[in-house]
Amino acid sequence: MTGHIRTCPECNTYTLFVTCQKCGCPTVSVHPAKYSPEDPYGEYRRKVKAWNR
Ligand SMILES: [Zn+2]
Repeated sequence: MTGHIRTCPECNTYTLFVTCQKCGCPTVSVHPAKYSPEDPYGEYRRKVKAWNR
C-alpha cells in the first residue's frame, strides 16, 4: 500500500487500492493533473503570455 489516496474514475470512490473495491476498475491517483479539465488551454495560454513579454 502506497498511502496515496486514489479515486475510481468509474464510480468516484476514494480508495488506497490500485483497483476499485466496488467495481474493480483501475483507480487513478488524485494528484493534480498536468492539465485541468476545465482549462485545457491553460498551458498554451501561459506560453503565449511568455512569448508576449
Ligand atoms: Zn469503481
